[in-house]
Amino acid sequence: MSSALEPGRNRIASPYLKDVETIIRELDTDIGVGLSSAQVQARLSRDGPNELRAQPVKPAWQYFLRQFQDPLVYLLLVAVVINLASWWLMDGRDWPVDALVITLIVLANALLGFFQETRSQRAVATLANLTQSSSSVIRDGAMERIPSHQLVVGDLLVLSEGDSVGADARLVQANALRVLEASLTGESEAVSKNTACPGTEVPLAERSNMVFKGSAIAQGSGVGVVTAIGMATEVGAIAHLLEVTPEEVTPLQKEVRAIGRMLGIAVLLITMVVVVAVLILIPVDTVDDVLSVLLLGVSLAVAAVPEGLPAILSLVLAFGMLRMARNKAIIKRLSSVETLGAASVICTDKTGTLTRSEMTIQQTMTASGKGRVSGVGYAPNGQIDYLGMPTSKGPVHNENVLLLRGGSLAGNARLTQREDGSWVIHGDPTEGAFLVAQRKLDAPVHSTNGFERVAEIPFTSDRKMMSAVVIDHEHNDQRLLFSKGAPDVLLQHCTHIQVGMDVVPLTDDLRARAVANVNELSGAALRTLSVAYRPLTASEDVTTGQPLETALVFIGTVGISDPPREEVAPAIVEARRAGIRIIMITGDHPRTAARIAEDLDIIPAGGRALTGADLDKLDDAALAEAVKSTCVYARTAASHKLRIVDALQAQGHVVAMTGDGVNDAPALKSADIGIAMGITGTEVSRQAAKMILADDNFATIVLAIREGRGILDNIRKFLRYLLSSNMGEVLTVFLGVVGAGVIGLVDEKGAIILPLLATQILWINLITDAAPAIAMGLDPHGEDVMTRSPRKPWDRIIDTRMWIGVIEVGLVMALASLFTIDWLLPGGMIPGDASLVEARTGGFTVLVLAQLFNALSARSESTSAFRRLFANRWLWGAIVLAVALQVAVVHSPPLNKAFGTSALTFGQWGFCLVVASSLFWFIELRKLLLRLKSQKRAKTYIAKRE
Ligand code: ATP
Repeated sequence: MSSALEPGRNRIASPYLKDVETIIRELDTDIGVGLSSAQVQARLSRDGPNELRAQPVKPAWQYFLRQFQDPLVYLLLVAVVINLASWWLMDGRDWPVDALVITLIVLANALLGFFQETRSQRAVATLANLTQSSSSVIRDGAMERIPSHQLVVGDLLVLSEGDSVGADARLVQANALRVLEASLTGESEAVSKNTACPGTEVPLAERSNMVFKGSAIAQGSGVGVVTAIGMATEVGAIAHLLEVTPEEVTPLQKEVRAIGRMLGIAVLLITMVVVVAVLILIPVDTVDDVLSVLLLGVSLAVAAVPEGLPAILSLVLAFGMLRMARNKAIIKRLSSVETLGAASVICTDKTGTLTRSEMTIQQTMTASGKGRVSGVGYAPNGQIDYLGMPTSKGPVHNENVLLLRGGSLAGNARLTQREDGSWVIHGDPTEGAFLVAQRKLDAPVHSTNGFERVAEIPFTSDRKMMSAVVIDHEHNDQRLLFSKGAPDVLLQHCTHIQVGMDVVPLTDDLRARAVANVNELSGAALRTLSVAYRPLTASEDVTTGQPLETALVFIGTVGISDPPREEVAPAIVEARRAGIRIIMITGDHPRTAARIAEDLDIIPAGGRALTGADLDKLDDAALAEAVKSTCVYARTAASHKLRIVDALQAQGHVVAMTGDGVNDAPALKSADIGIAMGITGTEVSRQAAKMILADDNFATIVLAIREGRGILDNIRKFLRYLLSSNMGEVLTVFLGVVGAGVIGLVDEKGAIILPLLATQILWINLITDAAPAIAMGLDPHGEDVMTRSPRKPWDRIIDTRMWIGVIEVGLVMALASLFTIDWLLPGGMIPGDASLVEARTGGFTVLVLAQLFNALSARSESTSAFRRLFANRWLWGAIVLAVALQVAVVHSPPLNKAFGTSALTFGQWGFCLVVASSLFWFIELRKLLLRLKSQKRAKTYIAKRE
């Protein structure tokens, strides 16, 4: 019924003032079954997606045109126009070859750039799809999880702790619901919500029967009817006030841009010197002469300025992110790839991340004895065998019934049976463990049927306990409170203890025995949970929020096993080898935590955990000292995570930190890489994080770090390649002009001849720049990525050693090319007998081949190129393609004409190949010396230590 909607806007007016029936009627929905699929479809097409101001998509041609937006390209095109004009004025008969060829090359380059840009955008869009937020709704009577942008007005939105609210909704149900609305109201405390109508108009912050898009459920649960979506929501109304997020530029991209700018200036200066020198030294007769020199200058600048670098960098980063996503590590921002490469500490949760979260109650401990729950894993058949010495079968039985039943009643999990007879837990695995253990007892008496849940005090990882109020219909409708939680916490709420059929005061002695039981269980690496209860008196009101969890009767403790994931131990070894520290931060008992940390080799045997309570006693200075050596923190609250991150960062660490709850969001934001859980994490934590583990697995973090390091390595590889190759081009022309006399690049009148033509330089740029560089960006990671210590965040991507290498390689490349020209030309140091065109073709070909050899060697700074020589098939593809194109340019008559080349003999090709390969041998020799030097250094170091 669209009439209830405000005209032109996908929302209804003032829903908070209307009662639930009116809303339901106006929105034509149903509180029980929600909307039907047909209704949803109709509304989706009527109102559009639930999005805040969709960015208008730029048409492709705009991206294509953007490729030409470069002052150097403008200059080149101006030169082309002048060239055309002069051709027109002169005779206009022959083809204006240079102008045509240059135009074609500029077009080809633009196409290449366009291709790179669209590919990396597509990759980023794919990733954005993976991280979009989702909401739970009831449609057609069934609950489903949908991407939040598919919400429509009238949808029945189901809210639970940690959800991010996907649209504005009028609450129809609220249980202890508290919502964080800071993004709308600026209020940082969570506010309580209910379903009552305020009666009169009130400001936004007081509309307590509404939840708003962009807020987060801090606690409790609820159901609401969606009343507004997209720009019609309250946050949509202020969307124009929200800052438009600027396009992200990562530190690495900044550095690369700066390098690009610096090189640009250097190249322009050199080019100007060359042009001026040539203009002075060459007898300039015609406009054409001047033009060809200028054209060479501009072409050189276009070729040598690494203007394509940023685009290649984005592409390589985006491809890296896609590869990581395939490996279950979803990165939300390009910059995180770099940060991952520098990570020096991983702070990880225990439960579910290091462990499998397959919780099985193995033991029970009550005042009357110890029990072992038999039966494997989830299979609910088995029984409790008593290991202790029960005074009689009856009482022990009573305590265990109470323990497991109480634990089940004080939880929200459900157990359902599949058709094949197996059982499935829905909800928290810890809570499911109680249900399963109860079934293992396999007697109807243990069932929780007959109890009606009337209230709940929810679990939070800060409180570490939860309670439920139930009515026991089989026993005079007696109201009972059942609590379960961390034993140390729960015991503080207890004044009595169940012993057999009796309730006796919890004396110091009995309390000490209960604590000893807990210690025994946690010492065996079991997760411990205790259960307590209390009959409520008739006068106690469960709705007013008066404290109910007092004077409880302690029943006993269960020991739950949660085995480590298999992949975790090897991942920890790998991380350690890579110089990364692992820190476990858990809400679990310190002994359990320490035992598991010991098993996983995070701490040495006998190591201890620091507890949240210990941390609270430390001031910042003491904490700074403590974090240097502590690797296990237990019984922590979310606020402790934040302190630990801050302390580690203050010591220069780059911290990766996992988190899953709403309260973890600040720590996730504060960490260098906040990591959320894709399966069990809350929506809020996923939004605060920079990386999401699709499989909740610790090993995936280490894998992502390996990828991050590998990508940084690859970026260094193609930077090394591109910069040295460009250097080679500039130096060939520069030294060719400066040393023209020496190598014979002079005509009969003694005037300088240019070593390469403008079109040749542009050709080299076209075939040897982008493709090999991108291929290098996709290079398989070296074996050593995880054997070095993490890169320091302040380390430059190109260090002095690399710069020296770039200059050396460029120099050798230029010398090889000029040597070939000298060899072939009649004059110079080595008199040859070839024509100028042949000599130039030789020098040109050597320059191309040398760059391809450089591509093979640039894959590592010190490892031999022969190691895994054929590992990168993309690179070989790029090389083969470039060689084929070069053969074509040398041997096809139309291309000869276009590029001023002529066919080379077989012998000349062989000569070019040998000369070009000298660069390869030079680099490999350089690497060998480097390796020998570092070996020697290592030996002296060891000798000194001994
Ligand atoms: P991690 O922080 O590594 O995920 P964790 O899951 O053990 O560890 P929390 O969820 O904060 O951390 O749990 C802390 C303690 O609270 C547990 O050791 C357990 O004793 C208790 N606990 C856990 N889940 C529940 C629950 N559903 N109800 C009551 N108590 C619980």
